[in-house]
Amino acid sequence: MSLFSKFDGLRAAHAKLTAAGADPFSVVFEDIVSATEGILHGQRTVLLGTNNYLGLTFDEAGKQASMEAVARHGTGTTGSRIANGSYDGHARLEAELAAFFGRRHGMVFSTGYQANLGILSTLAGKHDHLVIDSDSHASIYDGARLGHAPVVRFRHNDPKDLEKRLARLADEPGEKIIVVEGIYSMLGDSAPLAEICELKRRYGAYLIVDEAHSMGVLGENGRGLAEELGVENDVDFVIGTFSKSLGSVGGFCVSSLEGFETLRIACRPYMFTASLPPAIIASTSRALTIVGEQPELRARLRGNAERLYHGLSAAGFVVGPECSPIVSVIIRDVDKAVAFWNMLLERGLYVNLALPPATPSAAAFLRGSVSASHSEEQIAFAVDVMSEVGRELGLLPSKVTELSA
Ligand code: PMP
Repeated sequence: MSLFSKFDGLRAAHAKLTAAGADPFSVVFEDIVSATEGILHGQRTVLLGTNNYLGLTFDEAGKQASMEAVARHGTGTTGSRIANGSYDGHARLEAELAAFFGRRHGMVFSTGYQANLGILSTLAGKHDHLVIDSDSHASIYDGARLGHAPVVRFRHNDPKDLEKRLARLADEPGEKIIVVEGIYSMLGDSAPLAEICELKRRYGAYLIVDEAHSMGVLGENGRGLAEELGVENDVDFVIGTFSKSLGSVGGFCVSSLEGFETLRIACRPYMFTASLPPAIIASTSRALTIVGEQPELRARLRGNAERLYHGLSAAGFVVGPECSPIVSVIIRDVDKAVAFWNMLLERGLYVNLALPPATPSAAAFLRGSVSASHSEEQIAFAVDVMSEVGRELGLLPSKVTELSA
């Protein structure tokens, strides 16, 4: 026995996958050429697995704002805001986020992971209950574990099951806090938020929506699923990240509830970690303006999502239940999924390889995420290459005529 022997099983499983060619850490880009292209093993590779929904990592004004911020304020803050003080950009970005979502308060975290970790663990006290979707992101699970509240899971996107759980908790003391995501990160399906809001009202619960994958993507102004469905008034807390449509890194929570500001002196993942560097704050602020001012990016994103989703499903692949910028091809056989992923890399296409147990329903996925910056040619290339490899691996009929046979 050693300190690390508890990981023996994990290590063996990882070694097996690595031997089969499934090592995500072997993907080291020599260069990133644009929001949609990198150089991998000397080859130009289309990036179809980056969550860079609006392609803003290469926005000229955003890059310029970052460079100017470094020149003026240096490379980092070297500490937390509670110890080192804030730079004016931190408070300004919080105000901009609050205004963007039409809320009174905003808090910026160093990552989206920490936003969930901090908000969930702090808001829900030991007499409260967290009621979370079973397909929640790791940061929601970890936030729930870090806190002291009992945690109840309901079946993914199932309002009936949620209602059952809320009804059971109805006589329990304390507050009930429901946590859901806008668009779910693995399959790209979205929460039935109107039904969830109705339950939230009926049972007097609070509602947190993590719009990590839907901010900038859904809603007329890019405020996410709640805006798209017209239920923003029922959402008490919006959590999000800067690492997807905003093209940088960091996280946030906005709310209009009185008392929210207390979190600044209670929420440890906010208080005891270094604040975001000036360069990140500057480009994020610029990206937030773009999200509001350029709805055409969302329209382009939607067009690309439709091309990929319908292209792959017409080719015969099993894809997620609804069209969104996250387009996952579901492959039951893990070995085939690994082979598929490697063959795509060899042919210049990068997607995410998602394997159980990190995936819902114990299936393996090849997860693509499209960007407004992808050209139609890049999306067509992705559909062609995936179809070609699918046929070679016997996942698709080898000839079109077999489809009708
Ligand atoms: N919430 C969800 C739903 C996510 O998918 C992610 C990241 N994949 C996060 C939170 C964490 O965001 P970040 O990368 O900013 O830590």
